Amino acid sequence: MIIVGGGIGGLAAALATGQAGAMPQVLERAATFSEVGAGIQLGPNVTRILHAWGLAEDLKRVEFVPRKLEARDTQTGQVIGTLRLGQRSLDTYGAPYVTVHRADLHRVLLQKIMRSGLAELHLDSEVQAVKQDADGIRISGANLPASMTEFSKSSAMVGADGLWSATRQYVVPPTAPRATGLLAYRALLPMLSVPEKLRLQDVNVWMGPSVHAVLYPVQCGDFLNLVVVVQGLPPENLEDWDHAGNKQDLEAAMGPVHADLRDLLAAVPAWRLWPLCDRPPLKGPCEMAKGQIALLGDAAHPVRPFLAQGAGMAIEDAAELGRCWVKADLPVAERLKMYAQARWARNAQVQQRSIRNGQIFHLQGPLRWGRNVAMKLMGESLMDAPWLYAGP
Ligand SMILES: Cc1cc2nc3c(=O)[nH]c(=O)nc-3n(C[C@H](O)[C@H](O)[C@H](O)COP(=O)(O)OP(=O)(O)OC[C@H]3O[C@@H](n4cnc5c(N)ncnc54)[C@H](O)[C@@H]3O)c2cc1C
Repeated sequence: MIIVGGGIGGLAAALATGQAGAMPQVLERAATFSEVGAGIQLGPNVTRILHAWGLAEDLKRVEFVPRKLEARDTQTGQVIGTLRLGQRSLDTYGAPYVTVHRADLHRVLLQKIMRSGLAELHLDSEVQAVKQDADGIRISGANLPASMTEFSKSSAMVGADGLWSATRQYVVPPTAPRATGLLAYRALLPMLSVPEKLRLQDVNVWMGPSVHAVLYPVQCGDFLNLVVVVQGLPPENLEDWDHAGNKQDLEAAMGPVHADLRDLLAAVPAWRLWPLCDRPPLKGPCEMAKGQIALLGDAAHPVRPFLAQGAGMAIEDAAELGRCWVKADLPVAERLKMYAQARWARNAQVQQRSIRNGQIFHLQGPLRWGRNVAMKLMGESLMDAPWLYAGP
């Protein structure tokens, strides 16, 4: 099996299908394996899978286990809802809710693959074109190893090459990702540089008119991850997701906010800016697999980050791909069809709910008031997501 892309999705797929005996080869266009950026939250639906892959101990060295998720109003500072995480996640879902730095999760996956020898990794290898016919798959690109260009009918290609995927067009007619009109400003601060009374042990989600902020500790609590999402014009180059962010632009887009949030954000010396793009929710299994080619993670279903499940869905995809791959009595195309059938509806639901969450976070006027009252009255039952956290 050939896996295009060595991000979190590609490495997860390499691990899952490697354990299923696929002997995957990962082609990554970057010259080094590196994940930059920010923190991610991993719900129990995701940690359950990572633990089953034997990564619990490795994760323990880098994760943070928040006690609760607290929703606060950006104008009044009031706590409008609380979802217990910590022990409750273990008791309810049998797996923890954790936060990690993306680079740490990526490294944990990479080290497991290197230790186990379950997959081969090729850096500096960019796939540019793919041809699928009755004989199998042919790929071409820059610096591809000579042995990595032709694959018979008994092999598969998995496009795990992210939002701007080059492989997606061989499964679905080509279209560009869409700009959402939302900008994510993000930063990572040493916890010690945060004013003492504002240091966090939890996930905080601040909701306000046309703005929300998500803050949580990562790297065992040594750093605070901050993301503020506002409406705004994206930079010209959408494909480059890592731009310098301007503090004054952020403050102007946010408008006035409660002193606790303002003081926390004031501790950030420099912001990075991430223009958010996505695609409409998947419409059917045919958007995830065609013949011997399957799509996985953001290449198939880029999702807005408002349910904190983009990487989570890539990891769930990978686990399912591994489960389908072991059905060795079936032709490859049948196995990939089963994978797409098992995954598309859940991914579409997460895409849809993420869009809706973003709208709820940013409500204004009487609707904002109604949201706050509903969250206060219904509390945990409104904030919990058993359909998601219990797993597919
Ligand atoms: C602000 C923000 C917050 C987020 N928070 C969370 C969260 O809390 N929880 C969560 O689960 N998710 C979160 N996400 C989503 C998550 O980051 C992504 O969904 C996930 O990283 C996608 O992984 P991927 O491997 O599919 O794609 P990518 O990470 O984009 O990896 C694609 C890889 O393919 C390589 N590549 C690309 N093209 C080629 C080619 N032609 N040939 C070879 N290699 C190629 C790239 O170099 C890259 O390494 C967040 C996203 C954002 C923007």
